[in-house]
Amino acid sequence: METVLAINNLGKNFGRIQAVNNISLQVKAGQVFGMLGPNGSGKTTTLGMLMGVVNPTAGSFSWFGQPPTDHMRRRIGAVLEHPIFYPYLSGRKNLELNAMIKQCPVANIDNVLALVELTERQHDAYKTYSLGMKQRLAIASALLNDPDVLILDEPTNGLDPMGIAGIRELIIRIAAGGKTIILASHLLDEVQRVCTHFAILKKGTLIHHGPVHDVGKGTETVEVKANAP
Ligand code: ATP
Repeated sequence: METVLAINNLGKNFGRIQAVNNISLQVKAGQVFGMLGPNGSGKTTTLGMLMGVVNPTAGSFSWFGQPPTDHMRRRIGAVLEHPIFYPYLSGRKNLELNAMIKQCPVANIDNVLALVELTERQHDAYKTYSLGMKQRLAIASALLNDPDVLILDEPTNGLDPMGIAGIRELIIRIAAGGKTIILASHLLDEVQRVCTHFAILKKGTLIHHGPVHDVGKGTETVEVKANAP
């Protein structure tokens, strides 16, 4: 399997706060890779570095065996926070605007709308969408340029059970379509349900990584360490 992402001794300090400390791991093509950790464990900072919006203070990483250039980043789609959508425009119009900004073929819009199951609601105003639908539209927008990798930061945060189920099914569908997915989550059951591989971050440090059938083992480690004096 091709190595999509290789992270080598990556670190980030914000002043005296060590947000990410000496992380090394690899993500291979086709994996759904979960970064599991509680709030403040360094997941968002790590994803920010991988997307080129946060500068590392130590270490390096490569995408597809190459240093992270803008060209490489075109192969990566991300939903790091809710993108700006216009409330009174339809879901489709919002995607058309994003497609224009990203210079993607408008033809992709039908495909991504179908994939995120918003074809029927595409002409309704964005403001009428449920939170789950808004998140699915955000994912659709990240997929407009047909990236090889999709990065999602806590994609089910704040959603009701139906919205959560919809996003998890969508992640599994996208992975089945051949994309590599990197997903930050603080929910163990989310990682167990959708991920093939995972890493556990605690206070910026990688304390376990491997295939998801190990997930229980890694979590015990978190519990034990969390309770340690
Ligand atoms: P959450 O789920 O709450 O987003 P997280 O696992 O994504 O948590 P980060 O957001 O990466 O964790 O934060 C890791 C640490 O770095 C925290 O202590 C946080 O307060 C700190 N931190 C993050 N960004 C900054 C910043 N811009 N300036 C100062 N400290 C920061």
